[in-house]
Amino acid sequence: AAFYKELPKVELHAHLNGSVSVQTVERLIQRKPHLNIEHSMTAIGKGQRRTLDECFEVFKVIHKLVDTEEDILMVAKDVIKEFAADNVKYLELRSTPREEKDTRLTKKSYVEAVIKAIQQCKNEGVDIDVRFLVAIDRRNGPEVALETVKLAEDFMLSSGDLVVGIDLSGDPTVGHGRVLLPALERARNSGLKLSLHMSEVPSQLEESELLLNLPPDRIGHGTFLHPEMGGSQSLVDRVVKHQIPLEICLTSNVKGQTVPSYSQHHFRYWYQLGHPCVICTDDKGVFCTDLSQEYQLAASTFGLSRDAVWRLSERAVDCVFAGEAVKQQLRQKWTELQPGLL
Ligand code: 5GP
Repeated sequence: AAFYKELPKVELHAHLNGSVSVQTVERLIQRKPHLNIEHSMTAIGKGQRRTLDECFEVFKVIHKLVDTEEDILMVAKDVIKEFAADNVKYLELRSTPREEKDTRLTKKSYVEAVIKAIQQCKNEGVDIDVRFLVAIDRRNGPEVALETVKLAEDFMLSSGDLVVGIDLSGDPTVGHGRVLLPALERARNSGLKLSLHMSEVPSQLEESELLLNLPPDRIGHGTFLHPEMGGSQSLVDRVVKHQIPLEICLTSNVKGQTVPSYSQHHFRYWYQLGHPCVICTDDKGVFCTDLSQEYQLAASTFGLSRDAVWRLSERAVDCVFAGEAVKQQLRQKWTELQPGLL
């Protein structure tokens, strides 16, 4: 276990409100005792499973606990520090800006709070490079999606390279990506990178065909893309042709029951193809995991040697949305740390 913990890591798929730890939930509950929220409502423990629908209910509970600028600042700082303590050297956080009339939270102040958290951690010397992807919740439709892209564009310019892209997430059984294409095209044209949840459930094939026309810069999950899962060879060919990395979230997919067991996870298919795959947590708080555990799980399930695990974390550097200079710095860091570990 020490090896996986010490391994320098890159986290590219982490939803802010799904990443809130038990300790932070404790502090939030103390701030809002009147909500009568218990821990069992915010996390899915070892051996437990929920349907994807039930997972989305969990997010709603957390959203009740996190509804002021101060909450977001605290949650984001805690999450960043927890990833840093797990030896994550580069982190892309993603979150859906929300407005709350009661607390005068606006989407703009939401994003500002996350950026403030990133800057404060940097000033405190936390050893991690953090970037932010502004998330579009597909449930909210095309107008909100466009508004979100505009917000991200403004912050891309003002945040000093901290906002690097857009995430498309939210309940995959609701809405259709077709109506979101104009917003996503606009984002791409203005230089924002795109990480899109794709084929998370079987019914999304046609949508995946469409979204691949963009094409996205990274794919979240992509569980049902390949033919053995009801997808198609032509989808696989296009993903391979564009070399679009897949963000792989083992525990999340098994606990959320979109994948029946670890050994049947689609990581195996893509990894055997030699396709870029990045091990990620998705929602480390909700699914009670961390990135070290996810690497260990990948190694034990798929029989990966330490060398192979090292290469997996090293290759993740190629998939980050920050620029070439940042990638070079990270590669340097990996080179320096390698002799101590392998
Ligand atoms: P937030 O955006 O509020 O920081 O993080 C929680 C949100 O992330 C959820 O409401 C949902 O929109 C999105 N999310 C978290 N995990 C998943 C997942 O596994 N699949 C999808 N499609 N969306 C997710």
